[in-house]
Amino acid sequence: MNSHTGLPLDGERVLIALGGNAMTAPDGSATPAAQAAAVAAAMEHVADLVAAGAEVALTHGNGPQVGNLLIKNQLAASVVPPVPLDWCGAQTQATIGVLIMNALTRALAARGVSRPVAAVVTRTLVDAADRGFTDPGKPVGRYFPAAEAERFMAMGQSWKPFGERGWRRVVASPDPLEILDAAAAEALLAAGHIVVAAGGGGVPVVRANGTFRGVEAVVDKDLAAELLARRLGAGTLVIATDVEHALVGYGTPRARPLHRTTAAELRALAAAGHFAGGSMGPKVRALLSFVEGGGRRAAITSLDRITEAVEGKAGTIIEREE
Ligand code: ADP
Ligand code: MG
Repeated sequence: MNSHTGLPLDGERVLIALGGNAMTAPDGSATPAAQAAAVAAAMEHVADLVAAGAEVALTHGNGPQVGNLLIKNQLAASVVPPVPLDWCGAQTQATIGVLIMNALTRALAARGVSRPVAAVVTRTLVDAADRGFTDPGKPVGRYFPAAEAERFMAMGQSWKPFGERGWRRVVASPDPLEILDAAAAEALLAAGHIVVAAGGGGVPVVRANGTFRGVEAVVDKDLAAELLARRLGAGTLVIATDVEHALVGYGTPRARPLHRTTAAELRALAAAGHFAGGSMGPKVRALLSFVEGGGRRAAITSLDRITEAVEGKAGTIIEREE
């Protein structure tokens, strides 16, 4: 949509991946009011980015929301049939999508910007042979006592003990292969919409009999964000989270923030184990894949710094080497 508006980020296509802190209170509270308030606060920052002229696509996590749905499933299992995990993912894409649509429309209006916002229910293709399906390792939902875990293991679910805190269900977290509905997101972007897609990493599906079938899995939202960013031809990927930088030596007295760096250095630090699996690890992996796959700039930063990160002035940043 290169409209030559003279705005600082005119026509720059950007994908912003929103973390849990954009959708739940700082204490992790996921009441409807807390979720709406967190989304509203996040959309103020996204609206600033749009007002600066960027062409924005959004994606988001859904961990706490899926956790709540799983609890409803469990508590109500004798009354209404539990629904599969891929359905839970689809439901959260819709509810978070609507919260974003409403909040972003309002934040844009306050800046005198009138732009349509749309959320696309998005499927993500995964490999039925992914290791995660035979050895599930991603914990979902809350901790439960052993007796409760046993009840669900008898129904075929995998659960694991986590010491004192109890048991949690574990599911596959297969690598995303393709964002199947990226073309719909692309069409909306090209038509001037701000688009929300691949929420929660996308609804995981496998190929089956010439179509697709949902699977009991969750896709990492940072890895899905990276695929979506490339598929949309975004120049910049920003992973917005609750810390301004990735830290080297995280959790040690010598922890230090990582500012602008190179893909080579970031890769070496990742290999040396500086970024925890399941949290900072996939974000770093996403940055590396994005610039190696032809993206121009990729950053990890906090929600309030996203515009500066797009401008290359905040966060942990790497750029494609010419
Ligand atoms: P999001 O919901 O945004 O994906 P995560 O909790 O998955 O958030 O990831 C962000 C968290 O990663 C930080 O709050 C921090 O606790 C953790 N973390 C792990 N390793 C690092 C690191 N090397 N530097 C900074 N944060 C780290
Ligand atoms: Mg995360």
